[in-house]
Amino acid sequence: MDKQARMKLRRKAGYRDLPKPQVKYQGPEYSMSFACCECKTSNMRQFNLEPCHYPKVIECPVCKGVAVNLGRHFKPPKKSDTAQWKKVEFLIEHGFVFQKIRLIKNSYESVPYPETLAQAKEFVVKYETYAVKTPYNKTIQ
Ligand SMILES: [Zn+2]
Repeated sequence: MDKQARMKLRRKAGYRDLPKPQVKYQGPEYSMSFACCECKTSNMRQFNLEPCHYPKVIECPVCKGVAVNLGRHFKPPKKSDTAQWKKVEFLIEHGFVFQKIRLIKNSYESVPYPETLAQAKEFVVKYETYAVKTPYNKTIQ
């Protein structure tokens, strides 16, 4: 076997053994909001995990209730904004934890979340198939 052939083989073997590149999901872009509808608070949390392995819930640091992972894009309403918190709770109950709803797979376009409770009531029906199991969920068990 000449040198070139050996090199080729070695390179081939090398490629096969090459570890998969480690993607680090650290940094503020992967902070997730955990919201508690009981005491109407939201906390940003970061874990040294891939986002898909982030906990779905944590213990609410304020009331020790259930704080739900609402992802990166959740903007918590003001504590005094009861109507908005009702909407958030309603969405969570129906399986919408501010996950992206993409009508076209792999598309960047996603459906905007409802702004009011009334809109949310239509929203959960219209996008029922996108609902996920959530700790507050009463429709999917
Ligand atoms: Zn709480």
